[in-house]
Amino acid sequence: MEKELLRVEELTVKFRTYNGEVTAVNNLELLLNENETLGIVGESGSGKSVTSLSIMGLLDEATSTVTGKALFKGNDLVAMKEKEKQHYRGNHLAMIFQEPMTSLNPLHKCGNQIIESMLIHTDISKADAKAKAIELLKIVGIPAPEQRFNEYPHQMSGGMRQRVMIAMALACDPQLLIADEPTTALDVTIQAQILEVLKELRDRLKMGIILITHDLGVVSEVCDRVIVMYTGKVVEQGLIREILDNPKHPYTEGLIAAIPNINDQKGELSSIDGMVPQLDEMPKGCSFHPRCPYAMAICKEKRPAITTIENDRKVRCFKYSTEEETEVTT
Ligand code: SF4
Repeated sequence: MEKELLRVEELTVKFRTYNGEVTAVNNLELLLNENETLGIVGESGSGKSVTSLSIMGLLDEATSTVTGKALFKGNDLVAMKEKEKQHYRGNHLAMIFQEPMTSLNPLHKCGNQIIESMLIHTDISKADAKAKAIELLKIVGIPAPEQRFNEYPHQMSGGMRQRVMIAMALACDPQLLIADEPTTALDVTIQAQILEVLKELRDRLKMGIILITHDLGVVSEVCDRVIVMYTGKVVEQGLIREILDNPKHPYTEGLIAAIPNINDQKGELSSIDGMVPQLDEMPKGCSFHPRCPYAMAICKEKRPAITTIENDRKVRCFKYSTEEETEVTT
């Protein structure tokens, strides 16, 4: 039976800016089970990274407000005091980023950086921590791990650094791993290897993984379910296979059309016309209407609500519902 790991309810993130308050994430709901990978997909500016940072409690409280709930095994991460959040981040949650050099300290040997969090968050001895770090380097596919343990980040390739960062994230046996564009900076072969490592780790450690990416092709490699975000809202969600085979939301359709296809003789890449709007310049009505090939008159006036169209499949579009949002949002 599936065991619930993380349940996010009505998560809303607002930022204070010179132009007033803007909403970066709007009433987001999600569910992640143990041993499951959930993809969150969208272009830059869709709110996917802000979602992950708010779940991790890593947003600056001086400039942002987070409301709603992020229930990790029933414990609300949003409501926790900073000290408790730190405890959870050290012991139960971990995050990896696109660019390893933002997480790795160039002045310290990679091995020492892996054992550091173990020594801080657990009562493991230094010798055992070193043995575990070498084992982790082996698990993430680093050859000659004993030797690599003593190397500095600049001595490694981008792919190796990304593996070190994954090893670092796993140091305290997290149950939830958030991977934010973990393969974006890597070439296709290394990308496939890193995704394979994540899959193996999920199954071996029974972790829940949230994979954040702009690339639906990456999601199709590792995820069971996917959430598509646009301007801080979920616009479509469901099983990855069903969404790839039969996208309902025009934005999802555009993202799928943008996945490179090696069978396409012309080799042309498709893209969605226009840009994601700035948070303080949201158009009236459906925020996707200026880019949507199916936009109707109602789309320019009203905001569609998210509705369930079948089983776990949800979509936010007037093509599938006449419901509109009632809440007042930016
Ligand atoms: Fe396009 Fe209208 Fe659907 Fe928005 S609500 S995605 S503009 S058809």
